[in-house]
Amino acid sequence: MRKKIVTGNWKMNHDLAQTEMFLVDLKKQVLPEEVTVMIAPAFTNLNHAFNSLREHPVTVAAQNMHQNNNGAFTGEVSAEMLKSLGVETVIIGHSERRAQFNETNEILSEKVKTAIANKMTVIFCVGEELEERKQNNHLKLIESQLTEGVFQQPETAWKNIVIAYEPVWAIGTGETATPQQAQEMHQHIRTVIANKYSKSTANDVSILYGGSVKPNNASEIFNQPDVDGGLIGGASLEVESFMKIVNAF
Ligand code: PEP
Repeated sequence: MRKKIVTGNWKMNHDLAQTEMFLVDLKKQVLPEEVTVMIAPAFTNLNHAFNSLREHPVTVAAQNMHQNNNGAFTGEVSAEMLKSLGVETVIIGHSERRAQFNETNEILSEKVKTAIANKMTVIFCVGEELEERKQNNHLKLIESQLTEGVFQQPETAWKNIVIAYEPVWAIGTGETATPQQAQEMHQHIRTVIANKYSKSTANDVSILYGGSVKPNNASEIFNQPDVDGGLIGGASLEVESFMKIVNAF
């Protein structure tokens, strides 16, 4: 079922004390029932956030995971480890992971496979660089990221897959895709999924937009017919701005 989702991707921000301050404030907020609200703190704060939000309708997600379940991978965290905390949602393929940590479509496909095998929900990120958009190659590029990253999955897995379209040129830059650019790409993503699987799977998948979503622009983006919410970076670090976005539908 297609859901409205707002996920805060904290990246490498908020230590334990800052996480606790955020959670205390968040728990005082009234959340709209029709929106699935998620936060993705750093690995070190997942346990605390998960336990603190046990009685609250906020999902705690991880920002990344390794494709292997265990082994000699110094510094890495596995799906099994996340699940042992109770964390069942993971962001895979964020453009910062692709660009700074050399995560290729092949590696990401392995990560998706492992997450799905562990019955986790995957938020799979796709997005083009500015140059690719300028060359009018953006639609093709996103199709290949989907084909190589998630289309190995059987259709049944799609009940646990969310797509986040994040144009790289809009992440952390203050520059947002126009609502029309977001709608065009989200519709394209749905068409590509329909061609590979079926119309009903394409209609059911939640597709989030990410890239400098702020309280003042969330509403016009979320109002597009194929936009089901957002993956929010900077504006998710403060409860006040995060809540304005959560309430922007
Ligand atoms: C992100 O990190 O996924 C993101 C969209 O960041 P920002 O909202 O800060 O552009």
